[in-house]
Amino acid sequence: MAQPGEARLLLGSPIATEIRAAVKLDVAAFQRLNGYAPALAVVLVGADAPSAVYLRQILRTCRTVGIDGRLVELSGEVSGVHLRRRILELNDDPLVSGIIVQMPLPHDIPLSVVTDAIDPAKDVDGIHPLNAGRLLLGHPGFVPTTAQAAVELLKRSGIELRGKEVVVVGRSNVVGKPAAILLTREDATVTVCHSRTADLAHHLLSADVVVVAAGHPGLVNGAMLKPGATVVDIGINVVNQAAVDQGPGGLVLVGDVDFASARRVAGAITPVPGGVGPVTNALLMTHVLQAARAQVEAATTSVIPVGVVRQ
Ligand code: NDP
Repeated sequence: MAQPGEARLLLGSPIATEIRAAVKLDVAAFQRLNGYAPALAVVLVGADAPSAVYLRQILRTCRTVGIDGRLVELSGEVSGVHLRRRILELNDDPLVSGIIVQMPLPHDIPLSVVTDAIDPAKDVDGIHPLNAGRLLLGHPGFVPTTAQAAVELLKRSGIELRGKEVVVVGRSNVVGKPAAILLTREDATVTVCHSRTADLAHHLLSADVVVVAAGHPGLVNGAMLKPGATVVDIGINVVNQAAVDQGPGGLVLVGDVDFASARRVAGAITPVPGGVGPVTNALLMTHVLQAARAQVEAATTSVIPVGVVRQ
């Protein structure tokens, strides 16, 4: 509950619970009809990778909604050729509905190994160029889930986007750029800032809604915000607690926004953790189901869905 002078908290968990409940019913119906559950292959390259925790959360969410989550663990020493071969095998497995691959990849494997190999029909996190193109053109396809989650959280929290000034901080292909496209689709006027933006605060101070995905703790603070602005913090950073609040130390998760100062100025703000993250996971489940349904339809009509690339 927000105290006077403090922003309303935009919590992701209740929204995620709602999405998961709906998808759970639909997954059960899919299984009754087709005799198998939709499956998500989660490819993890290197057991100590920082995103391993995130991927394990996804597998937990799969279990909650009845999706068959399959962890495909590859050694951190794996070659690009081997990774590509493994993805092609998953493409060919009729019982695998969706595939996601842990990011970032080991330094010596270019992202294109994954984006070029993954079947667009199983690309449930929207990284294949075909899905990126569909997003740009406004055609149906898989959208990067984190970007979608930020927008979904705003909409389901009743934040008006039409005609509003929105600043997105970050222009990565997986978060910043797709978020900017989706927000434009909601009729917001969108400005995209990045590491070469000359005066970030200048842009932020006129924004009704700020969406931050930069990977830098404390990049945005209360003094940079317009009073009453809505702040969506997508950043996930692991830092020592002592650096945040002189706490006892140990590692904690923080976003890119200095929460304490921003909360005193903003009208609404997402916490980290507990904001965009849970919605991202829940939306991913809807994508897996969507992929499974499209694949069944394609198999029964013997038509390869538009855009499916057979390798
Ligand atoms: P990237 O490193 O790929 O991109 C970061 C972006 O931030 C770049 O466009 C970069 O600009 C910009 N940037 C960096 N420094 C600054 C700065 N000082 N001022 C303005 N812009 C800056 O990261 P991702 O997009 O993959 O992820 C962003 C954050 O979101 C990370 O913290 C990540 O952990 C988190 N994340 C959260 C998810 C969730 O579910 N909540 C899922 C995925 C990511 P430039 O292009 O000029 O380099």
